[in-house]
Amino acid sequence: MSRALIWFQNDLRLADNPALQVALKRRQIPVPVYVHDPQSGARGAASAWWLHHSLGALQQRLRASGSELYVLSGNSAAALRRAARQSGAQALYWNRSYAPGAQERERQLRRELADTGLRAESFSASLLREPAQVGKVDGSPYRVFTPFWKTLQRLGPAREVFAGAGRLPAPEVNLPAAQPLQSLRLLPRVGWDSEFHQHWQPGEESAWRQLETFLDQRLADYATARDLPAATGTSRLSPHLHFGEISAIQIWQRVQAWVEQERSPGVVAAAEAFLREIAWREFAHHLLFHFPQTADAPMDTRYVGFPWRDDYAEDLRAWQQGNTGIPIIDAGMRQLWTSGWMHNRVRMLVASILSKNLLIPWQQGAAWFLDTLVDADLANNSFGWQWSAGCGADAAPFFRIFNPVTQGKRFDADGSYVRRWVPQLRKLPGKWIHQPWLAPAPVLSGAGIYLGTNYPLPIVSLDSSRKRALSAWKQMKQQARRGED
Ligand SMILES: Cc1cc2nc3c(=O)[nH]c(=O)nc-3n(C[C@H](O)[C@H](O)[C@H](O)COP(=O)(O)OP(=O)(O)OC[C@H]3O[C@@H](n4cnc5c(N)ncnc54)[C@H](O)[C@@H]3O)c2cc1C
Repeated sequence: MSRALIWFQNDLRLADNPALQVALKRRQIPVPVYVHDPQSGARGAASAWWLHHSLGALQQRLRASGSELYVLSGNSAAALRRAARQSGAQALYWNRSYAPGAQERERQLRRELADTGLRAESFSASLLREPAQVGKVDGSPYRVFTPFWKTLQRLGPAREVFAGAGRLPAPEVNLPAAQPLQSLRLLPRVGWDSEFHQHWQPGEESAWRQLETFLDQRLADYATARDLPAATGTSRLSPHLHFGEISAIQIWQRVQAWVEQERSPGVVAAAEAFLREIAWREFAHHLLFHFPQTADAPMDTRYVGFPWRDDYAEDLRAWQQGNTGIPIIDAGMRQLWTSGWMHNRVRMLVASILSKNLLIPWQQGAAWFLDTLVDADLANNSFGWQWSAGCGADAAPFFRIFNPVTQGKRFDADGSYVRRWVPQLRKLPGKWIHQPWLAPAPVLSGAGIYLGTNYPLPIVSLDSSRKRALSAWKQMKQQARRGED
């Protein structure tokens, strides 16, 4: 039997892994490798934490199946070339990335490996359909979600799920460059990740447990509970999806099977609401693939000249540290720091306050998210930030500025989300929990709160900053109009 290198990237699973399945189907012995390539882009600290543990889980699964994961580092093409030579592999298979520059990197890799005689093939694995496969009738990409979603629903996933890999043949190779996972130094040197294990367990098995628990316990109420940050109402599958521990096609098919099994109208509606979110992920990847500049430039080019503040360093730090004095914002930012994740509704609120009330460029917030989220994902993150800042495709209009007090009262009515993540406010009565600055002095002191001492006063007035944001927006529109004349 000949050997095939299986190059794992953001597809850290054995089931429904086309690159691995193709090798097995062709009766080739898979030689699984992971290459830590510093040139393939910086990774945030929380994401690196996840990667370390996810690679560990994959290694264990491969060993339990009779195989091995060879961890390499350095330039990807050079490391793969060396691994192919040392293992005697005749083929190299991997699952495609759609990130900006990925296609060019793939072409470059093929050029660099051309003289090796390796059969190099890549496959579609991370999306329901490849970005280029979903387009308007005239072939152009979608910019609006609803028609995109309708087309995706009509087309469905591009293929059936591949079965699990089962027992694997032992690679029986010697790759002297293979190194222990620890040597990649993915874990943080300072122990800010101490609580991550309470919230997460990276790896394929855990991704499936997460999905099954969600279907069993939460799917039926998803449409309403998904908006309540204090409830565990969503699937929490985002980091598992980002690292490819479970695929969108697997989720799609499992949810459809669940609907078949349950057959109640409520479950059908809840499943559709959930799959619609999976489709937002597809849409975000579709957009970044077709408009790669939107990784850090606004989709709506009028916003290139937006009059952001430039004296924002102190406010940015307060926002990052969850010290803005606006409880639901601080709760979200502290949830992010402590657990590496933040509820979607609160992501929208913290993004709105940063880009609108504080007039700080959304790119600053996006960069902080990429560093601190375990699910940091360039496509979803750039899309989410641009949606919130009003400059993206199908975005919330700029003039719709969330009021975090009203939002807090609506989605965290009893304040339990705030109390959980901002312990200083734990004893504050519900009436004041979202606006402590309005609470009478005896109420504050009775709750042990000293504004400006153990909890900040708001760094910005919600009312005047709203007006300032609207006038900046009008200024931007005027400038853009002048540019057109
Ligand atoms: C400012 C901002 C930044 C964001 N950054 C990221 C990011 O870096 N990585 C990330 O995965 N998501 C990001 N999101 C989208 C969303 O907040 C998360 O995907 C979601 O909170 C993850 O929780 P869940 O898995 O429980 O979601 P569920 O509600 O259970 O949804 C299931 C899956 O659908 C996808 N999804 C859900 N909502 C969205 C959305 N709005 N856009 C794209 N995909 C979605 C995710 O893959 C998610 O795991 C961001 C949203 C905003 C507003």
